Amino acid sequence: MIDFTIPPELEDVRARVAAFVEDQVLPVETRAGSNVESELASLRAAARRAGLWNPHLPPEWDGLGLGVLGMALVSQELGASALAPFALNCMAPDEGNMHLLLHAGSEDQRERFLRPLAEGRVRSCFAMTERDVASSDPIQLRTTAARDGNGWILDGEKWFITGAEGAAFAIVVAKTEGDEAPPRERYTLFVVEGSNPGWRVVREIPVMGTQVPGGHCEVRLERCRVGAEALLGAPGQGFLLSQVRLGPARLAHAMRWIGTAQRFGKPLVRHEAVAWMLADSAMELYAARLMVLNGAWRIDSGKEFRQEIAFAKVFVSEALGRIVDRALQVCGSLGYSGDLPLERFYRDARAARIYDGPSEVHRMVIARNLARAFIERGSTRGAAGDLA
Ligand SMILES: Cc1cc2nc3c(=O)[nH]c(=O)nc-3n(C[C@H](O)[C@H](O)[C@H](O)COP(=O)(O)OP(=O)(O)OC[C@H]3O[C@@H](n4cnc5c(N)ncnc54)[C@H](O)[C@@H]3O)c2cc1C
Repeated sequence: MIDFTIPPELEDVRARVAAFVEDQVLPVETRAGSNVESELASLRAAARRAGLWNPHLPPEWDGLGLGVLGMALVSQELGASALAPFALNCMAPDEGNMHLLLHAGSEDQRERFLRPLAEGRVRSCFAMTERDVASSDPIQLRTTAARDGNGWILDGEKWFITGAEGAAFAIVVAKTEGDEAPPRERYTLFVVEGSNPGWRVVREIPVMGTQVPGGHCEVRLERCRVGAEALLGAPGQGFLLSQVRLGPARLAHAMRWIGTAQRFGKPLVRHEAVAWMLADSAMELYAARLMVLNGAWRIDSGKEFRQEIAFAKVFVSEALGRIVDRALQVCGSLGYSGDLPLERFYRDARAARIYDGPSEVHRMVIARNLARAFIERGSTRGAAGDLA
């Protein structure tokens, strides 16, 4: 028998986070609108008092030590407000960077970079995407890091780097190995400090969605010299380690999108004439939740999870768009106005189908895995949910 009961200790955290979002975050969000940074300090203090700080980090890093399933439950509540993940210190891209530093950082890197992040004293960013290449295919990335004595010199341009303005440091993907190395072993991760004279934020790119702290920026690395200690993991491990970060990070996005989509249940209930829209949204939410929870359970259980994360990334990001669109339609001109958060969620939802891999790329990977499963095992079952 499959038991979907939420373990009591996780249900307790989920309920406390839900109450925190409802009582503390949503009233502040209504007041602050998109000016989130001005309200953060008091919300963060409240989150610490409520014992909800750093849900994703282990206790030795002042966290709650939740696994991926626990984070799925918590993030679904946090997704109700763009402010909520910031309040608990588990917002993108810092949450993923914290996981990466925990997983791959040396003791010194953890103290220098993870410690201030975990304490909420600084922000960070993750710099992979480049403007002039199709970054969905990361083996096209052009930023290089050349050996220079004991250290490295990085050169290149990155863009759409969330949080880059004012970030204390960036985790940068750069090419270090020549064409003799297999394509996926040519790239390496570096920790580059924001104060490095070779790291320059050129501009914040204007976007259709909500402005986030530090913006989405264009960045230039010009003879950016770093020491040997800037290397995160070993040379050539950049993609391997990025997957450590991006797999759970994609799921974390999907979890938050569910929270955003769920928020519209309440105003919609009043509109009985559009019951069919509600039904469609409820069914999609149900499917989204099952996908996310199953993906989280697979990660926590040490099972292969990449296909399930791709399912969740595509399905939930697209369902979010449809659900928000229906909600806006139902609310008519009020939905289109700035008096409700719907128009903002509508704009934000559009990006979800692009970042952390566009839907098309995930579909291509999903199809490739289906074909491989059929060729290897005579059935697509293992690549279509692997449930029984
Ligand atoms: C709000 C936002 C925040 C972001 N934050 C960050 C960040 O912090 N750090 C970072 O490094 N990046 C970030 N990005 C960048 C994001 O991850 C990339 O935009 C994304 O990976 C796609 O890469 P690209 O823009 O180069 O598109 P391209 O690779 O040029 O693709 C363009 C389009 O072509 C199609 N396509 C591409 N490849 C295929 C394929 N194989 N098969 C079929 N169709 C295909 C898709 O429709 C795709 O949307 C962010 C983007 C957004 C919108």
